Amino acid sequence: MKYDMKSMKAEEFINDGEILDTVRYAEEHKNDIALIDKILAKARLCKGLSHREASVLLACDNKEKVQEIYDLAEQIKKNFYGNRIVLFAPLYLSNYCVNGCLYCPYHLKNQHIPRKKLTQEEIANEVIALQDMGHKRLAIEAGEDPVNNPIEYILECIRTIYSIKHKNGAIRRVNVNIAATTVENYQKLRDAGIGTYILFQETYNKKNYELLHPTGPKHNYDYHTEAMDRAMEGGIDDVGIGVLFGLDNYQYEFAGLLMHAEHLEAVHGVGPHTISVPRVKRADDIDPTEFDNSLTDEMFCKIAACIRIAVPYTGMIISTRESAEVREKIIRLGVSQISGASRTSVGGYCEEERPHDTEQFDVSDDRTLDEVVNWLMRSGYIPSFCTACYREGRTGDRFMELCKSGQIQNCCHPNALMTLKEFLLDYASDDTRKIGEAMIEKEIGNIPKEKVQQIVRERLTKIAAGERDFRF
Ligand code: SAM
Repeated sequence: MKYDMKSMKAEEFINDGEILDTVRYAEEHKNDIALIDKILAKARLCKGLSHREASVLLACDNKEKVQEIYDLAEQIKKNFYGNRIVLFAPLYLSNYCVNGCLYCPYHLKNQHIPRKKLTQEEIANEVIALQDMGHKRLAIEAGEDPVNNPIEYILECIRTIYSIKHKNGAIRRVNVNIAATTVENYQKLRDAGIGTYILFQETYNKKNYELLHPTGPKHNYDYHTEAMDRAMEGGIDDVGIGVLFGLDNYQYEFAGLLMHAEHLEAVHGVGPHTISVPRVKRADDIDPTEFDNSLTDEMFCKIAACIRIAVPYTGMIISTRESAEVREKIIRLGVSQISGASRTSVGGYCEEERPHDTEQFDVSDDRTLDEVVNWLMRSGYIPSFCTACYREGRTGDRFMELCKSGQIQNCCHPNALMTLKEFLLDYASDDTRKIGEAMIEKEIGNIPKEKVQQIVRERLTKIAAGERDFRF
C-alpha cells in the first residue's frame, strides 16, 4: 500500500507506513532546533502545517520551544476565533447497539445496562428541558442498530427537535453523531437540515481498530474511515472528525488525524469543520486502564495546541468528559466549542438528578449551563449560542473563506453577543446576567466596523424588547 492523500481508499490516505515513518521522523528530529524554528516560522503564517511538521512539534520537548508552541496556539486561536466559545449539548436518543466496541458501554454483550430508545414525546420533553437551560445547538447521539435506530427514526427525531418551540426557546442547529452510513442516508440527513455530521475514527491504527471492534458493522475499518467521503458525496459540507484518545498511542493518532484532514482538503477542497478530542472514560462495564494508552493532562493540552497550529481554520471541540480544570487550560490553547451541563444517558435531561444507569461515560464537569456561562465570562470568554453560519449557507469552503478573510470578527462576534443577550434575558441567574451585560457592553467596542456596531446596538434593544433570533 502506498501513501496517497488523494486516494479514496482508506489504507492509502491513512497509510500505516507513512504514519510510522512520520512518528520515527518526529522522534529523530524532536531536538533539531533549526528545523523546529523553521516549522514555527511557517506556522506563524497561519496557513497550516503538514502532519509531519506538526508531529515534530508534538514530539519536541525543549522547554523554550514548547512554550513557543503554546504561545502560538493561543495567538492563532485569538486571531481566528477571538475570545468566543460556542456552547452545545449532546442528546442521547437510543443506546441500542449491535456493535461490540470494547471501550463503549453500549456494546451488544453488555447485559446489565438498561436499553432505552426515546419516543418522539420523550424527545420533545428532553428538548424542552434543554431549551429551558438555554441551549440552541445539539449533537444527537445514537448507537448503531438498523432495527431499533434506522435512519427513518433519526430523521423523525431531527424533525421533532426542530419543531419544538417552547417559550423563547428553539434548537437552531442539530449536529449528528451516528455510525458510518451510505451516501443515500447522508443525503437524507442533509435534506433534514443537519449542521455537522460527526464521526469519530476512534483509532486510525487498522490492526488495533479491528481488535477494538471485534463484531458488528463497525468492525469494517475501511467503511468507517471512508465515511466522511461518502458524507461529502451526499452533500454534507461540514464534517467533524476525532479520535478517542487512549485507545492507541497518541503519536500515531495525531498523525492519522491530520492525514485525514489533509485528505478531505485534497479531495473535496475543504477540510473538516471540527476536530474533537475525546479521551476514553470509565463507564459501565468499561475500565479505561485496560487500554493502557492513557495520556497525561499535559500531553493532552499539547496535542490540542499542535492541532490548533496545524489546522488554524478548523473548530476544536471538547466535551464534559474533561474536568473543569482541564477545560480551563485547554480552552486557551485553541478549543472553540464546548458542551455544557451534559447528560450522557438516554432521557437524562428530564431527570432531577443525573442518572447513571444508561450513561455512555462518566461526566467530569457537572456544572449547570448557567455556571458554565458564568465561569467562561469570568475567564474572559464570550459564551456563544450562535448557529448562524449554516443557516445563512456559510458551510464548507464558504465558512473557511469567512475565517481566512478575517471577516469573522464582523460576523461571529456580533452573533455571539446577540445570542448571549438572549441567554441572559431568558435563562441566566442574576449574577450571570450582571457579568454578561457588562461583557456585552465592553465587547461591542471590539467589532471592527462601526456600522456593524450600530446595528448590533439596535438589535440588542430589540432583543430586550422581546424580539429573538437576529443574525449576521
Ligand atoms: N454509535 C456511533 C458510532 O459508533 O460512531 C456514534 C455515537 S457514540 C454514542 C459517540 C462516541 O462516544 C463514540 O464515537 C466514542 O468515541 C465515544 N465513546 C464511547 N465509549 C466511550 C467511553 N468509555 N469514554 C469516552 N468516550 C466514549
